[in-house]
Amino acid sequence: MNRTYGGVRGLPGNPAPYSILHIPTERLRAEGENASPMFTLDCQSQLSAPERAELEAIGQFLRTEVSPVVAEYWEKEEFPFALLPKLAQQGLGRLHESEHSRLFIGLVHAEIARCDVSLSTFIGVHSELVGGVVTGLCSEQQKSSLLPPMRDFQQMGCFALTEPDHGSDISGGLATTARFTDDGWVLNGEKRWIGNGTFATFAIVFARDVADGQVKGFVVREGFGREKISGKMSVRIVQNANLTFTDTPAELIPGAESFANVNTYLCSSRAWVGWQAVGAQLGIMDLALHYARERQQFGRPIAKFQLVQEALAKIAGNVAASISLMSQVASMQQAGTLGMEHAALAKATTTRLARESAAAGRAIAGGNGIVAEYGLGKMFADVEALYTYEGTYEINSLIVGRALTGMSAFV
Ligand SMILES: Cc1cc2nc3c(=O)[nH]c(=O)nc-3n(C[C@H](O)[C@H](O)[C@H](O)COP(=O)(O)OP(=O)(O)OC[C@H]3O[C@@H](n4cnc5c(N)ncnc54)[C@H](O)[C@@H]3O)c2cc1C
Repeated sequence: MNRTYGGVRGLPGNPAPYSILHIPTERLRAEGENASPMFTLDCQSQLSAPERAELEAIGQFLRTEVSPVVAEYWEKEEFPFALLPKLAQQGLGRLHESEHSRLFIGLVHAEIARCDVSLSTFIGVHSELVGGVVTGLCSEQQKSSLLPPMRDFQQMGCFALTEPDHGSDISGGLATTARFTDDGWVLNGEKRWIGNGTFATFAIVFARDVADGQVKGFVVREGFGREKISGKMSVRIVQNANLTFTDTPAELIPGAESFANVNTYLCSSRAWVGWQAVGAQLGIMDLALHYARERQQFGRPIAKFQLVQEALAKIAGNVAASISLMSQVASMQQAGTLGMEHAALAKATTTRLARESAAAGRAIAGGNGIVAEYGLGKMFADVEALYTYEGTYEINSLIVGRALTGMSAFV
């Protein structure tokens, strides 16, 4: 099957892949106009020269090694295990241990999402959620057993918070129990939607201590049931699972003895989803621009039609707004001033814009816009997961509303 960057095929002149660093002026330049890095508003210039070079290398790797194969995994709903050694070589297994700036890490997440949103979900769960908790909250013994093999994906964790009966209300409603026995901690309950759950070598699980009612975090290495959630219309490469715990042995994470500590990681993971929304929109822009230039109707490229240009301008504006917002979020993370309300605002806004961009991009490709292989239909479907996970759009909006009004709509 002839696959190209972003999955577009069957059109003359496949899109020249480009990265966030190098906006292809020949592709952006409308007749007679000066091109500029308008989508990214030059935010990458804030990176150091080594970071720019590293980001460029990762983008190049994604375009040449991942883009050509990823759509097929998506269609088959399979995880690309064969890519793991190459992803590790790019340092994508140890972003959580990295000394890089938050802007660099955000732009890496965006580059991955630009190539494939599912893959960026896998890397984000690995680094922002699991990696964040292991590096920040685990004991030295737990760290030494987990961190080295995580670097090359020999160990891969999952982050098990959501339950069948508790999604948005998980912090108050969490029903999985933790009991301290003579033989140590044991867990009982069920989790739903857990990304990487089918193959994770260990799980970070949140359960309510029956003794004090507190939600605590545990490392679980074995002894739990896994059932794949099949038939998803979004992020189909991500292997989501229902997990079952029946007197399952668990190790307490010393730094995760209350849900308040865990919230720190939900804050940075919301920022990560904001970067995913940036990347998805850059991917949509790549694909929509290419399609509009190549597709001819009424004897001319559809890119010459004013309404098509308006749609492209809307996507470009959404990308620019999202990347500016996320660049500021990265500065606040770097300074240690990012609060949950900021992360919620960024997550809700960028995913709302991504949904609008995805719909506009999909429409530009007409009927081909609903065929996964052309890329825009796949992006359209994938953006739905971004809108829902890490707190739905509505729940993140309520966090912002509470900060604005001083009144909680939750209780
Ligand atoms: C692809 C994918 C991957 C995921 N990965 C993970 C993972 O790795 N680990 C994990 O723990 N979880 C994961 N999740 C779960 C995700 O966090 C939940 O789906 C999300 O929190 C929403 O919960 P829910 O699906 O139960 O929806 P519900 O909470 O049932 O919400 C249904 C609808 O009601 C709305 N709603 C609920 N309460 C309110 C309210 N008070 N006011 C207004 N509207 C409200 C919601 O916004 C939503 O529109 C994943 C989900 C998906 C789809």
